[in-house]
Amino acid sequence: MLKITSLNKKYHKIEAVKNVNLTVDNGNIIILLGPNGAGKSTIIKSIVGLLKYTGSIEINGFSNKSVEAKREFSYIPETPALYDLLTVEEHIEFITKAYNIKDYKEKAKVLLERFDMVGKKDKLGKELSKGMQQKVSIICGLITNPNLILFDEPMIGLDPKAIKELKSIFLELKSQGKTVIISTHIIDSITDIWDKVFIMKDGEIIFRGSKEELNARNENLEDIFFKATGVM
Ligand code: ADP
Ligand code: MG
Repeated sequence: MLKITSLNKKYHKIEAVKNVNLTVDNGNIIILLGPNGAGKSTIIKSIVGLLKYTGSIEINGFSNKSVEAKREFSYIPETPALYDLLTVEEHIEFITKAYNIKDYKEKAKVLLERFDMVGKKDKLGKELSKGMQQKVSIICGLITNPNLILFDEPMIGLDPKAIKELKSIFLELKSQGKTVIISTHIIDSITDIWDKVFIMKDGEIIFRGSKEELNARNENLEDIFFKATGVM
């Protein structure tokens, strides 16, 4: 479970996140939806422990900055940050060593195949296109078997086949009881897969709901998004 209590983040004078409270149960696909600048990345970076903020964030009962919490999650940033001089295969080796994971070769092979990266496995980080770097970043995020996985705008820059694979992976993770958090400003990219949505605007959560709740009220996410954010 992820529990965020009274999260506030200011960048100098800009209040990027204002008193956000949210709880996420395990085994769900959670969407942080909102226009550019809404505060989605700031929340995700706070969860990951990359920013200073006020408030508290717990992951499966551990403070997000503890080693125990860090073992629980993976983070796939919006802009991939690979090592220029490590190959694709070396990235996987490096991360599995860091997490002390021994039995990863078969899983790595499957992931490289799913993302059409087998032929690129000896290429250096700096030799890969942005989309390929994004794929390596996703593979490295998955190879550590996280219970919580945070994707910041994951579809941007991926080809259609990779987007399809990634959506299947989201559903597989959910079926294994893992929690997936996806930030996006593109509703179409997540329509079939989401369980619970938090719509953000100007640093606040202005709508929260589950797919069942929306279906029961005969509402659709797109209408709610445009009504809530006032963007057309
Ligand atoms: P989103 O991911 O929803 O597009 P962000 O969390 O990136 O939104 O940004 C929220 C607000 O914080 C925006 O007004 C943005 O300009 C501001 N912001 C984000 N990062 C920084 C930063 N490093 N320095 C100053 N302002 C920032
Ligand atoms: Mg963002």
